[in-house]
Amino acid sequence: MITFMDANISLEPVAISTLSVFFDAIGQPTRLKILLAIGKGEACVCHLESRLGIRQAVISQHLMVLRDVQLVEAERSGRNIFYHLTHPEIIEPIIRLGEILGIPAEELLSLSQKPFPGCPCPQCNPSENPLLSCARKPSEPNHTHSS
Ligand SMILES: [Zn+2]
Repeated sequence: MITFMDANISLEPVAISTLSVFFDAIGQPTRLKILLAIGKGEACVCHLESRLGIRQAVISQHLMVLRDVQLVEAERSGRNIFYHLTHPEIIEPIIRLGEILGIPAEELLSLSQKPFPGCPCPQCNPSENPLLSCARKPSEPNHTHSS
């Protein structure tokens, strides 16, 4: 016979580990920034690079972790791969949690605002040929990042 206590003990590890995997994935600063920058929309790696001021290789690494835990999904569009949140509704509780901790919502939401000045991605810079975007132009000066 399974008692209430037994049931609790047997259910807890699964429930807790599900949440723990989630918090592990979002708890890393770069991954948290990526999630907030994607927000409820979608973003390509070059947008995340330009918006967050983090090298593309590092972003790709963290996107891989986020995809592994199914927080982020990728979709190809032309030559670009756009990332979106599997559950965009997780943004609200993150913003809410920030507010509880004294962080103004606008501060966190500003990460997902587009267009971002100087970003070469097709969403921020639609006048560029969308088929060629996300390929850094040789003449383009280095980004001035402030992170
Ligand atoms: Zn952009």
